[in-house]
Amino acid sequence: MSKRILFIDRDGVILQEPPSDFQVDSTDKTSFVKGAITALSKIAADLDYYKVMVTNQDGLGTASYPAETFEPYQNLMLRTLEGEGFVFDEIHIDKTFVADNQPTRKPGTALLTHFFNKEEYDLGNSFVIGDRWSDIQLAKNLGAKAIYLTSPLHQLTDEQENTLRSTIVLETNNWNEIYTFLKLGLRKLVHERNTNETKISIGLNLDGSGRANIHTGLGFFDHMLDQIARHGKMDLDITTKGDLHIDEHHTIEDTGIALGEAFAKALIDKTGMERYGFALPMDEAEAKVLIDFGGRNWIVWDADFKREKIGEVPTEMFFHFFKSFSDAAKCNLNIECKGENEHHKIEAIFKAFAKAIKMAVKRDPLSNYLPSTKGVL
Ligand SMILES: [Mg+2]
Repeated sequence: MSKRILFIDRDGVILQEPPSDFQVDSTDKTSFVKGAITALSKIAADLDYYKVMVTNQDGLGTASYPAETFEPYQNLMLRTLEGEGFVFDEIHIDKTFVADNQPTRKPGTALLTHFFNKEEYDLGNSFVIGDRWSDIQLAKNLGAKAIYLTSPLHQLTDEQENTLRSTIVLETNNWNEIYTFLKLGLRKLVHERNTNETKISIGLNLDGSGRANIHTGLGFFDHMLDQIARHGKMDLDITTKGDLHIDEHHTIEDTGIALGEAFAKALIDKTGMERYGFALPMDEAEAKVLIDFGGRNWIVWDADFKREKIGEVPTEMFFHFFKSFSDAAKCNLNIECKGENEHHKIEAIFKAFAKAIKMAVKRDPLSNYLPSTKGVL
């Protein structure tokens, strides 16, 4: 069977990158990225990847970066990782400068051409783990996917974001999440639901970063669904084309159903998942949401709204949305809210809903148990 590969960048990924000159060339400047040793150790112990370091070290071996100021710290790092069971199968260091424009320099692949052998390596199921656009571009050039370890030092430009977005399968600032992703995979899908009244497309990534792209034709509803993505730390694309010329009812109800169905699909494997709830205040309002993705639908709704509408959304439709969601996702949902300001109240409910989901769907890669005495959810 062909090998899957982890191409791992060094600076900013395993070793912290000194912001002064980006060179790890002294003891003072040698420290590990938080969580890297633990995650790499678990990756080596639990997962079957061929491990390759790919790093650009500008001008290594020249007067600006003599080899003797590089090697001791590189070797210290390798020995430390080896002590935790992690050993690179190959190490590729490009020593050119940006201005040299060499094909060996990331994102160029000239040092890595042997991996294009399809018999031996499975690049489509391989990953580059890196903290710069050039690592993501390398993944693209290899036909692999990128795990982007975000860093305040190297933000992507809008253009890089546009061209590289589809190559990134995981964006995180946390090594433990990288390990979890590699061990358990992503819960990411596109779900469509079309009837005579509504046409709905939902893109859901439960292991996303909180990005939302919501278009239902109802501004206030979009704003509420936005909260689910942001506070639930999931990526959510929702496009609903509903019969708004009649009224808002089908658009809101069917979006709730479709979102619930998307969750039911994404949570098909509930191993290691928890059940949770969340309460939060928003100015004078407070909301409590308890959720259990236990496979059965039920809703308790204790929230009164005095106004008929907020924005263009009838307040009676809030219950309807959550009822539709719980029916389709097959979850128990218990929602309570008190307060004066109607906007605060419903926003607090959506935020608490998002936070409760975030906790409920969190997986522990070390756990293989199902949170149910029945053994099946
Ligand atoms: Mg780097």
